Amino acid sequence: MHPNKFRSLTNSNVVMDNSELEMKYRQTKIIFTIGPATSSDEVLKQLIDERVDICRINMAHATHEWTRGIIRQIKRVCGEAGRQIGIMMDIKGPEIRTGDIGEAIFLECGEHFDFLMVAPDGDASLDGIRCINVNYPNLINDVTLGDTVLVDSGLIRMEVVEMLERRIRCKVVIPGQLGNRRHINLPGVRVGLPSLTEKDQGDLAVGLDEGIDFIALSFVRDADALHSLRKVLNDYGSKARIIAKIEDQQAISNIEDIIEASDGIMVARGDLGIECPYEELPIIQHQVIKACIKKSRPVIVATHMLESMISAPVPTRAEVSDIANAVLEKADAIMLSGETTTGKYPVECVKVFKRISRRIESTHNDDPTKELHFPTPKGKMLRSAVYLANDIESCGIVVFSRSGYLVRMLSSLRPKVPIYAFTDIPELFRNLLILWGVEPFQMDFSEDPEDTIKDAFDYLKRKKWVKEGQTLIVISNALAKNKIIDTLQIRYVE
Ligand code: PEP
Repeated sequence: MHPNKFRSLTNSNVVMDNSELEMKYRQTKIIFTIGPATSSDEVLKQLIDERVDICRINMAHATHEWTRGIIRQIKRVCGEAGRQIGIMMDIKGPEIRTGDIGEAIFLECGEHFDFLMVAPDGDASLDGIRCINVNYPNLINDVTLGDTVLVDSGLIRMEVVEMLERRIRCKVVIPGQLGNRRHINLPGVRVGLPSLTEKDQGDLAVGLDEGIDFIALSFVRDADALHSLRKVLNDYGSKARIIAKIEDQQAISNIEDIIEASDGIMVARGDLGIECPYEELPIIQHQVIKACIKKSRPVIVATHMLESMISAPVPTRAEVSDIANAVLEKADAIMLSGETTTGKYPVECVKVFKRISRRIESTHNDDPTKELHFPTPKGKMLRSAVYLANDIESCGIVVFSRSGYLVRMLSSLRPKVPIYAFTDIPELFRNLLILWGVEPFQMDFSEDPEDTIKDAFDYLKRKKWVKEGQTLIVISNALAKNKIIDTLQIRYVE
C-alpha cells in the first residue's frame, strides 16, 4: 500500500492518524528464531510489540524440556501482551554428521581422509590415513567415486577417491579445521535416510502436545516426505501447517509436487547454498517464490538476511538489498535465525526488517497475480474483489473464513490493499499470520451474516484499522429468503 493513499482521506471525526495504520500494517510477515538472545520475557514482549508474526524453534539445538518451557512461555507472554503470534517447530529431518574427534584437527590440501561407517573402537586409521565416523552407516551405498563431500557448511571440501570396506576414502580439496559432530552435505547425491527420523518423531510429539501452529521439515526431497508427515498430524488430530524446507537439488527437481503437497515452503538458503552452486541461489529463490504464489502457498525466504547484525547494530548495504529483493519478489515472510538466537541486536533486526519492508512495499504497483488459475465463479469473484478494491481509494478487503481457503486465494492475488480476515477458530487465526498482506482477527460469528459483518466493522473501527467513511469490499455469505448465497459487497464504515 502506498503511504500517500491514506493521507488523502480527510475526516474530522477520525482519531487515528494515517501514520498509525501505516505503522501497524505490513504485507511481508516476519519470523524470528528464538534462542538465548530472545528467550527472556522482556525481549519476547518487545518482539511481540514490534509485531513479529511467528516464532521459530530450531530443534537442531533444543532439548524437549527447553522446548516445552519455551512454548508455554511464548503463549504466556503473548497473553500478557494481548497479541498472539504463531509458533513454528523446525525439525532437523535427515541430516548426516561426523562423530566425535576429540581435539579438532587440521585437514591439509591433498591429504587423504577416511569416513568410517561405524564408530571406531580405538585407533581405526588405516594406511596411516586419519579418519572419523559418520552417523549414517548406509552412506557408503549412496556415494560413488568422484562425488563431492562438504563438511561444516562447506568449509572443507573433499572428493571421494576410493571405496573400501565400511570406509569412504576422500581427498581434501579445500583444507580446513575439523571439529566434533560437523554437518555433512553431499551435493547432488540421493541420500537414503528416512524423511522423518526417530529424533524428529520425538520432537514432533512434544510440539503437537504443546500446540504448535507450523512444522518446518528440513531436507524435504519429495512429496512423499510430506504425505508421511501429514499422516502423523492427521492421526494426532493436529491442524498444524506443514512448511517444506527446500535445501537441496533433489527438492528443486521435485519442487512442483512438493509445493502441491505442502502448506508452505521455506527457501532455506543456508544448506541450499551449499548443496547447489551459490550463483544459482537467486534464480532458485525467484522461481520458487513465483511457483508458490501461483499455487497459493505461502513462501518464506530464510537465512543470512541480517547476518552482520549478529554483532553489528546496523545492516550492510548488501543485506538491505537482499531483504528488499525478497520483498519486491513478494515473498510471504522473511526470517531471522542466528540474528535472534544468539545475536546482540535481535529487536533492532526486526526494526530493520520492518523499515525495509514498508518502504519497498510502498513501491508495489502491479495488478493482481495473472498466473493464478481460478476456474470457479467464486474464484473469479475473488479476483474481481481485488480489482475493485485496488481501484478504490483507501480500501480494504474483509473476508470471513473457517477453512482459510478464501484468505489464501486472496493473499496470492497480492492486492494493494489490506486483507482483513476474520475467523472464529483460534488455530486458523494463527495459521493465517504467515500469509502475505493478511491481517487476521479471531471473533465469534453470529447466526446472521449481516450481524457478523457489523461486528467485524465495529472491531476494525475500534482497533483503528479503518475509519469512518472508508470503503471496504466484503466477501461473505448472505441470507436471501432463507437461502445462503456468496456475495461481494461494497460497504462503508459508519
Ligand atoms: C537453512 O539451511 O537455511 C535453514 C533455515 O535450515 P537450518 O537453520 O535448520 O540449517
